[in-house]
Amino acid sequence: MSSQKPEIAIVGAGMGGLTAAATLLRRGFKVQVYEQAERFLRIGAGIQMAANPMKVLRALGLEDRLRQTAFQHRARLHRDYDTGRINSEFDMYSVEQKYGAPHLMMHRGDLHAALLSLLPPDIVHLNKKMKGFTQDADGVTLNFVDGTQARADALVGADGVHSIVRSQLFGNESPNYTGRLAYRATFPAHLLKGVDIGDVATKWWGPDRHIVIYYITAKKDEVYFTTSIPAEKPDLESWSLKGDLGELRAAFKDFHPDVRAVLDACPDTHKWPIYDREPQTSWGRGRVYLLGDACHPMTPYMAQGAASAIEDAAVLARCFEGVDKAGINGAFRQYEATRLPRASKIQSLSHLNKREWMRVDAAAPEAATKEKADPGWVYGYDAWTAPLAKPEMAV
Ligand SMILES: Cc1cc2nc3c(=O)[nH]c(=O)nc-3n(C[C@H](O)[C@H](O)[C@H](O)COP(=O)(O)OP(=O)(O)OC[C@H]3O[C@@H](n4cnc5c(N)ncnc54)[C@H](O)[C@@H]3O)c2cc1C
Repeated sequence: MSSQKPEIAIVGAGMGGLTAAATLLRRGFKVQVYEQAERFLRIGAGIQMAANPMKVLRALGLEDRLRQTAFQHRARLHRDYDTGRINSEFDMYSVEQKYGAPHLMMHRGDLHAALLSLLPPDIVHLNKKMKGFTQDADGVTLNFVDGTQARADALVGADGVHSIVRSQLFGNESPNYTGRLAYRATFPAHLLKGVDIGDVATKWWGPDRHIVIYYITAKKDEVYFTTSIPAEKPDLESWSLKGDLGELRAAFKDFHPDVRAVLDACPDTHKWPIYDREPQTSWGRGRVYLLGDACHPMTPYMAQGAASAIEDAAVLARCFEGVDKAGINGAFRQYEATRLPRASKIQSLSHLNKREWMRVDAAAPEAATKEKADPGWVYGYDAWTAPLAKPEMAV
């Protein structure tokens, strides 16, 4: 292979695609990002960045920016939906000392904007919906819905849970709708009219549903909640599918007054069907591999979906450092061999533990592993220093 660095195309400018673009750019690769959206919208959703992705973001120079804007909560509480009894309290300030980085709560839009700020604007191409690709001995051709094409040496499919790249690689098998919906909203805290949600993230557990509530700004002036409730799959879906406030409030009418106060104050909501997949045995072929939800979509109960995509991005760039020797497929196979076992484990655990992933689930006692009791293997991971799988281990 020539000593010229390969040019890498990334499809999808979500958390995974943007982070991969940033990590690869930092190692001197030429990168182009193709995104189907016409523009980036700040849809009302919060996101937790645990210590493991925060280490990746730190090396990209984003830690100070995120610390200034995001909320760092004192504790994670689990409470009964009706009485409000606190069943568990996990100290979150100790996370930084234990796992080497803070656990921050933020607006997804703030994280997305921070990642976007790392990229030269001319490498992010909006309104470019990919419909397929072909690969040959010399490279990959991307075909877009608008009739245009692009050429690159390698393609990273970071196009989310309904990935076109995945379908073309492995067949058009739909992800599994879990039978549950997430309503999500962010709104100004002053609308709570004095109700204090505290400096904690609280998960309120009902018999068949839950809601998580926390601040997403350092100033505590913006509130976020996300739910998981049983529901039929909506006919339509997108990042901007509106939720009905009446239906949402009715779904939580038996919950504690503190929960109802938050839902009563909420002016607007969106809803997301929750999907996952069984772990895959392969993430790509030849010059085309997947990253993030495209290869390991998971339920949100461990708050590790974007975290895993961000970890993928760091490891991908590390593996591509050896591309001169290993070749493009060799670098990709090393990435897959390094990342697939960990991402699959998190994906499976996230799926199993619909309630509390650190607690033994009575319905699945066989899953009561050591890992469940100690979250250190999740949060303590550092994608910059974790051992890379040996290329010969790659399959
Ligand atoms: C309710 C809920 C709460 C969550 N909370 C957390 C949390 O707290 N912490 C956490 O780490 N994770 C969380 N997650 C998971 C997280 O949102 C996802 O894992 C993460 O967004 C995946 O990033 P991605 O870049 O792989 O995919 P996406 O964010 O889905 O990005 C894919 C991108 O590809 C684009 N695209 C798709 N198809 C095409 C195409 N054909 N051509 C061009 N572009 C295309 C899309 O427009 C999109 O921009 C949560 C998820 C849900 C549903």
